[in-house]
Amino acid sequence: MSLYDIIVVGGGPAGLTAGLYASRGGLRSLLVERGAFGGQMVNARVVENYPGFPNGIAGIELGSLMQEQALKHGLETLFADMTQLVPGPTHRIVTTEGTLEARAIVIAAGSQYRHLNVPGEAQFTGRGVSYCAACDGFFFRDRDVAVVGGGDTAVSDALELTHYARKVYLIHRRGELRAGRVLVQRAAAEPKMEFIWNSIVEEVNGDQMVDTLKVRNVKTDKIHALKVAGVFVAVGVVPNSQPFADVLKTDDAGSIIVDQELATSVPGIYAAGDIRRSSPRQIASAVGDGVAATMSALRYLQMQT
Ligand code: NAP
Repeated sequence: MSLYDIIVVGGGPAGLTAGLYASRGGLRSLLVERGAFGGQMVNARVVENYPGFPNGIAGIELGSLMQEQALKHGLETLFADMTQLVPGPTHRIVTTEGTLEARAIVIAAGSQYRHLNVPGEAQFTGRGVSYCAACDGFFFRDRDVAVVGGGDTAVSDALELTHYARKVYLIHRRGELRAGRVLVQRAAAEPKMEFIWNSIVEEVNGDQMVDTLKVRNVKTDKIHALKVAGVFVAVGVVPNSQPFADVLKTDDAGSIIVDQELATSVPGIYAAGDIRRSSPRQIASAVGDGVAATMSALRYLQMQT
């Protein structure tokens, strides 16, 4: 088993930046990724708030530029799913491609969309159920769609969908949105939007494609069938922290608890990006986390020698 100075888990913006800083810092570094490089940003048609790109950049292109830059500086990569973390004087990572060993670890495994877990949701995913308005909104031109959720993602997704859809219902389980004031004002002024308050989706129904949602008002218990061609689920995210949960301290939401240096509860193990507690969940902040976590890891390694 070969020993790395740093292993980075996850190939989104936090992980690719950590890998860039580790390899450019002359360390023997490996990045383990289970899917495609770029993380969630590959779903963004255009990223307008990443500094340096005044006209925006496609998420997939930004991800591929980050990957190219990290690899250019000698970062090794492995496509594998990490299943277990075994801390020790050197830390071991068990993956589907074998066990790896490193003196320090940066965990940047990100998060995934929270699901409604109602009948029909899984069955119709990709056939009317979507978690990404920027990716799939285009397919609903002149159709009626619904968005579920009341946070910033739900409201900005709903606003984005008004560019395509004929009508956009926003279904929220409470009577007040969690989203920020500017977004809420924009949504309230948008004639294509209709709010369905205090309501939850209990079933997603259809034949080949989604055609109705069973919606229940949680205050009156009244149920109605809402005719839509698509439903966008925007009810937050769940951190991908399960493989680490028995080793590292996490909060109630499953986010890894870190200190100011992004150090976790185990010395030599750091967390960066969406997976850590209080992450702003932005590409730019994930990049900053990748830098901060790796510099902390470098200091830790220097103190060990
Ligand atoms: P979020 O803030 O956690 O909001 C999740 C929403 O989904 C809440 O309204 C919640 O309802 C609802 N919800 C949760 N579980 C549900 C369930 N099982 N069934 C129905 N509804 C459910 O998540 P987010 O909107 O993805 O935002 C996450 C973070 O990213 C936030 O910090 C946000 O500010 C940031 N963000 C910012 C922007 C921006 O443009 N500035 C855009 C996207 C995201 P309750 O309100 O009742 O809890």
